[in-house]
Amino acid sequence: MPRGTPTARRWRTEHDGPTALSERLRVVGGLVLPDAATPAHPADLLLIDGRIAEVGVPGQFDALEGVPTLDAGDRLVIPGLVNGHSHAHGALGRGAVPDVALEGFLAASPSINGQRGLDDLALSATLNAVELLKKGCTAVFDMSGEFPQPTLAGLHAVASAYASAGLRAVIAPMVADRTLYQALPELLAALPSDRQAGLAALPAPCADATLTALRQAALDWPFDAGQVRLGIAPTIPLHCSDAFLRGCAALSAEFGLPMQTHLAESQTQAVIGEQRYGRSLVAHLEVLGLLGPGLSVAHAIWISDADIERLAAAGVTAVHNPLSNLRLGSGIAPVRRMLERGLRLALGSDGANTSDTQNLFEAARLAAGLSRVVEPDESRWLAAAEVFGMATEGSAAALGWSSRIGCIAPGCQADLVLLDLAQPVYVPLRDALRQLVHGENGAAVDRVLVGGRLVVDGGRVLTVDEPALRRRAQAAAERLDALNAEGRHLASALRPWVSAFCCGVGRTGFPAPQPRLR
Ligand SMILES: [Zn+2]
Repeated sequence: MPRGTPTARRWRTEHDGPTALSERLRVVGGLVLPDAATPAHPADLLLIDGRIAEVGVPGQFDALEGVPTLDAGDRLVIPGLVNGHSHAHGALGRGAVPDVALEGFLAASPSINGQRGLDDLALSATLNAVELLKKGCTAVFDMSGEFPQPTLAGLHAVASAYASAGLRAVIAPMVADRTLYQALPELLAALPSDRQAGLAALPAPCADATLTALRQAALDWPFDAGQVRLGIAPTIPLHCSDAFLRGCAALSAEFGLPMQTHLAESQTQAVIGEQRYGRSLVAHLEVLGLLGPGLSVAHAIWISDADIERLAAAGVTAVHNPLSNLRLGSGIAPVRRMLERGLRLALGSDGANTSDTQNLFEAARLAAGLSRVVEPDESRWLAAAEVFGMATEGSAAALGWSSRIGCIAPGCQADLVLLDLAQPVYVPLRDALRQLVHGENGAAVDRVLVGGRLVVDGGRVLTVDEPALRRRAQAAAERLDALNAEGRHLASALRPWVSAFCCGVGRTGFPAPQPRLR
């Protein structure tokens, strides 16, 4: 069906406006892919109060009177994709990260994310939300960063931006109580001696103030927690004291906050973690009581089979982030070994500063492709259904919304994406799931509903003035780059030493080789 047909217009005029919540709505004529385990088949949907009330055979709801209709003819109807790991602040940092590994990015992070006000935090979240929605994501686990540490106003700015855009989200403030150089004193020691004192003196975020702010946020969360809920994200174990990690776990347990951390993303983290704790990062988190169904771990690249089994036994979810793992050269997560050991897998994009996109279709395609690179036995490759399951129900578990989002079934939220089957990747159509995972790049996204609310129509986001957003983003980037010029210069000057340090740890442990000056 061409965009803007009379059917689409009729549905809109029967409501309060183009994005109004519909009490009852039928979605008819579509080819429905309900979940990873069920083949696509013709079906009609009845939505009531933002949820899927019934999934019926074609024509089943035709006799209902007074129920508006959304024509899904020539559309593949899929559950909205769920992004298991992103960063709201990443969107405004797009294009700012050079060709560096993770620690190089972290060293440069203050110059990329610094100097931001509340308007910048909201602007970046809106940018993130727009790309997510346009690429068929209806929910996201967002490790949002506010520097030097989160504030109630900052959290509310991000949450409000997502709520206004119409996205579903977990807002999990990214927190720590150590600086990069306190977390990795070996890195500090590897830097030029005339730089060390200044970097060592950088103030660490105050643990008590951070935990107090998070407690306050949990006690007084003014948003609909069914759409935008609070989470908590001790960002990297090495960057957090044991007491702080325990404090985060206690808040997570007390308030039911989904918790996430970056786990063994780089080989540097894994090697230094072993040296610091005398056991693996996973074993250390286990001792501190962090492992459990409420925890998801992003990346988890450099982990052993024993650690995978620990995570699986505790009900943890691992979030695969192939886009940023490749961009930062972090490595390839052992996804097949994880699945074999019963570890639940989600799929994420990571922040737009280190993945360059929020396109989960691209992440899915990459996940499938990478499995073919690391596994010569084709029976161990990731099947399309496994990847699609990660991007939907797997990520839903990371957000703490299992069986609520990520599938099309009675009782689930009506978070739906309508893909245009006239797009070349679906012509001819033989296997919708296979063609989606291996071919879709987001170009077919036509309509997106979140909780039954139409937020994307004809590929256009209805809730945000996109041209104005673009102008604001460009102006903000230029202003922030000017404010952060000195920090960027410092990061650039340190880059050869940071790079040599990471390569040294990854290859040999210590000591790091001498830097190659460029
Ligand atoms: Zn991340």
